[in-house]
Amino acid sequence: MNRKFWTKAAYILTTVLIFGVFLYLSLLPSFRSFVSEIENKTFDLRQGITSKYISPSDKITIIDVDDESYEYIVDKFGSWPVPRVFWADLITNLEPARPNMLVFDLLFLKRFTADGDSDFELINAVNKNKNVYVSMNFDNYSKEVRTPPKLPNALKNNIENDFLIKSNPDLVYSNCRPILEEILNGTKNIGLINVQRDKDGIIRTMSPFSYYDGAYYKHLTILAGLDYLKLSTNNFKLNKRGEISVENNGKKAVLPLNSKGRVILNWYGPEWTFNYIPLWKVASAVEKGDREFLDRSFKDKIVFVGVTANSLSDIKSTPVSYMFPGVEVQATFLNNILDNNFIKKSPLLFDIALAMFLAALIGFGVMNFKSPAKSVILFFGVYTAYFIFSILIMHFFNIWINLVAPIMLGIFVFAAGYIAKYLITSRDYEHTYKLAVTDGLTEMFNHRYFQEQMSANIQTAKRYESVFSLILIDIDFFKKFNDTYGHQSGDAVLRQVAQTIKRNIRSTDIPCRYGGEEMSVILTNTNKEDAIKTAVKICEAVRNKEFELATGDWTHVTISLGVASMPQDGETTESLIEYADKCLYVAKRNGRNQVVFEFPEGTPAE
Ligand code: GH3
Ligand code: MG
Ligand code: MG
Repeated sequence: MNRKFWTKAAYILTTVLIFGVFLYLSLLPSFRSFVSEIENKTFDLRQGITSKYISPSDKITIIDVDDESYEYIVDKFGSWPVPRVFWADLITNLEPARPNMLVFDLLFLKRFTADGDSDFELINAVNKNKNVYVSMNFDNYSKEVRTPPKLPNALKNNIENDFLIKSNPDLVYSNCRPILEEILNGTKNIGLINVQRDKDGIIRTMSPFSYYDGAYYKHLTILAGLDYLKLSTNNFKLNKRGEISVENNGKKAVLPLNSKGRVILNWYGPEWTFNYIPLWKVASAVEKGDREFLDRSFKDKIVFVGVTANSLSDIKSTPVSYMFPGVEVQATFLNNILDNNFIKKSPLLFDIALAMFLAALIGFGVMNFKSPAKSVILFFGVYTAYFIFSILIMHFFNIWINLVAPIMLGIFVFAAGYIAKYLITSRDYEHTYKLAVTDGLTEMFNHRYFQEQMSANIQTAKRYESVFSLILIDIDFFKKFNDTYGHQSGDAVLRQVAQTIKRNIRSTDIPCRYGGEEMSVILTNTNKEDAIKTAVKICEAVRNKEFELATGDWTHVTISLGVASMPQDGETTESLIEYADKCLYVAKRNGRNQVVFEFPEGTPAE
């Protein structure tokens, strides 16, 4: 098991770990919605930047009921809403300026109070002028509260392959606000002004179509936008790319739907970016007969009429502003149709490939850079570049590439990389430490470690008044053995004797190569009696074992052993070694191949 193996193992282990955790998390709906909510915020951030660099079409003008206009109306008419004859007059007076369209982001609801004449004027004006568009709104009120109205066939649309839309419950409605019946039945120019907000209340998407009572209905801006481009139709088809595309005479409108059946809006400027003219200015120009102003302002324009007054509260939150006029949301939608610049999500496979590539870059850096600072710089460098890339892609290609999931993967890889690195280095450290205390030939501990352990055991024995023992071992006639069989066979036998010793001691005992062909065992917490038993066991094991020579032949060797114990035989490393050495001398003198644990006065050391 070399270092490479362990490095690889750590890599594989951590890679499996990352993907396991990632897979698990990606299967949790709550985690997914958490990620997508943060992703939405990064979209807002990007839109905040890109919106500064695109401008809305100068074909669109918004007449807005702002706070001043509201005061103007209350002053003139005493209340809001105004009697509908006001709107009828507005239409009548704007028509000579030849606006391309007049799009009312206002609901002309069925009235229950008697104001028949006023309503009738409006009905006439709307139905007579084919360029006037009005709104309706779906909801899900109970049938018992309001009987769902039947809508005229002329407003119905058909969509082929409509799975994306019908599978989204929030685009399917069960009720409809009642519009003045004569308008509903007298014009085809009625479209929806429903908006759908994301979980955080922000409008990022719009549904071009909603489903009600067995048919699809167009959003107001789809209706107006297709008419403006001369692409009107009631039959649509969703293609394999998830787009609804309408084409005629070289003109084309493309609605790329997301997984929720909606288009993602591309915003212009923070807010109030479109050309706004407050209603009171228009009304007073009409009053003064200022035709020049009206012509200049509205000729050939797509004119939206909507409410922006705070007191009338049609204020929405969008990626670029928390105080966004509702009518500007509709204008933005229409402008996106005209400029064909809706935002599209990048394909999933592209996102995955890119995320893996970035994560691999991080993983490579973490594994190869020695300093963590470099890895951190790499991490921030890579993902800052990716962030900037995502802004450019959004600006130049209107594509929304995912930021959050790839960055999370990067964080996982970064963390896992350090875990792997830690596993490898701690193993390296262990390996180095082992090398430092081990004898290469016998794989026993070396002399230095022997000295350390002797001191440690003496200290422990002194402090706790406990015991420990030392066995010194010397191979008999080893010089002769070497001379007979060669040095290589000597080494082989030395190794096998070491193995035999290791097999016959406890795991808490410490086998060492003392030097040359001499070995020792420190027996922690072991008294002399037990140490002698172990020594005898070792002696017998070696005596009974056949050892293999470098030549492949087999032979016997014997060993001599001396035993010393703390405290009775000495209380320092030197005295214990001297005692065991003297025993060894006696063992040699008495014919070798035996254990000796005491000696007469005056015995010299071996
Ligand atoms: P005795 O029974 O009295 O111990 O006789 P001996 O020949 O073993 O005597 P001594 O212990 O003094 O001799 C040590 C010999 O062990 C010297 C050397 O040839 C051999 N030796 C020491 N270290 C190694 C080693 O690492 N490999 C081999 N092959 N031989 C070694
Ligand atoms: Mg010797
Ligand atoms: Mg010897």
